[in-house]
Formats: sequence, C-alpha cells, structure tokens
Amino acid sequence: MRKPFIAGNWKMNLDSSGAVQLAAEIVKHSSAFQGIDIAICPPAVYLLAVGGELENSAVALGAQNMYFEPSGAFTGEISGPMLRDVGCRYVILGHSERRHILGETDAEINRKIDAALAVDLNPILCVGELLEEREAGETEAVVEKQLSGSLQGISASQMSSVTIAYEPVWAIGTGKVATPEQAQEVHADLRRMIRDCYNAETADAVRIQYGGSVKPSNAANLLSQSDVDGALVGGASLNIEDFLGILAEAT
Ligand code: PEP
Repeated sequence: MRKPFIAGNWKMNLDSSGAVQLAAEIVKHSSAFQGIDIAICPPAVYLLAVGGELENSAVALGAQNMYFEPSGAFTGEISGPMLRDVGCRYVILGHSERRHILGETDAEINRKIDAALAVDLNPILCVGELLEEREAGETEAVVEKQLSGSLQGISASQMSSVTIAYEPVWAIGTGKVATPEQAQEVHADLRRMIRDCYNAETADAVRIQYGGSVKPSNAANLLSQSDVDGALVGGASLNIEDFLGILAEAT
C-alpha cells in the first residue's frame, strides 16, 4: 500500500512571521493525521525559520526548487547540499510555473533530480499539460515526454525516493479542478509509463500526487481514486483551515 502524501507549496507568499505562524499551527494539529506523510515547502528565505518550527514533528520540510551544481559561482542559486544543510527532505522540481514562466527544460529538471538524489533529497517531480494540449488530445504525449525527459538515467532503486505530481496547468491556481476521472486516467497512464520504463514493483510503489485547485471540498473524491496517492496543494496550503481539511480527507 502506498502511504498518502500531502505537500503544501507556499510559492512566493507570506512573510517571515506569517510563515513561522502557519508552520506552528500545522505542527500543533499534525498528530491528528496519522498514516500519511506531510511536507510544507516555504519560500527559500524562510526554510531555516520554518524548519525550526518543524523540529521533532512529523511534518517534513521541502524546498520549491534548487540548482543542479553543488556549489560555486552561480549567483542567486541554491544547491542541494544547502537545502540539506537547512533540514530539507523534499524538493519540488519542474513545477509548471518554473517550466512555463521561467523556461525550465526537461534536461535541466533531469540534472536537478540527479543532483537532489545525490544528496538524499526526495524530489517531487511535477508534470502536466496546458489547456490547449488537453483540448488537442495531447495530454498523454505531453506528460510522457516530461516524465521520460526528467527521469533520464534515474535508476529503479533511485525511483523509491521520487514522488511524481500530476498538475494539469489549467487547474493550477484557477479554481478549475480536474474531475476525479480525469485525474485517475492520467495517473494510471503515468504509472503504466513507469512500469514500461522500469518494472511493476517500481510502478506499484511510486507515489503520484494530484495538484491543481485541491480544496477540502474536492480532496476526498480525488484521493479516493486508486492511482491518486496524495496532493500537492498550492493556494489552499496557505490557509490553515483548508490545509487541515485536506489532511483530514487524506487520513
Ligand atoms: C501548485 O502550485 O502546485 C498548485 C497545485 O496550486 P493550486 O493548489 O493553487 O492550484
């Protein structure tokens, strides 16, 4: 059985006191949510402060991005060893905002995944199609290209540290959630692709989160799908009642 995994992506929101306060609230209630994995991914400048709140709790710290080189003259970038140094266990890679606003390619994402795994950071690899790609019937081909491009050279044993997040771009931050059936169809496709690239054991074990306007009101239906193993939550992870509501649905 795959353990449900809920991660909150705070994106470029909050200030230091708001971030610490939200983390403290999540920790305060976290013992109510047994049998699931929980992570929060604050902006990089608040990782250390938020990590302090998470100490000795079941809530893991994650980052929203990293660079693939371990150190050196890369102004403005943050490396995997640095994320480990401040207590991160997870890193979101290939988020659609990084792909589409900041121009990240599958090849770059692949190097980042490799670098994350090299320092025992667990990548959350995001894939997902644009609205026009869905309407053109290209969803499967788009996510297959993203998946295979991002996972080049990653071994079956390394895959035990990787989470995949299916995030249809048209559903992110728009309030337009995929139906449970739409999510299940793509999740099952992704699991089949992992089976084809690796093996059945790897495919059965890999966790595939859904992301895109998840809220307490739609979480139960999405999470009840057999290939939906959790959620990557943006907007609703910034509101304590909403995030706790989603955790409750996953428990
Ligand atoms: C996300 O940023 O990964 C996301 C899914 O955002 P939202 O939940 O706001 O759609």
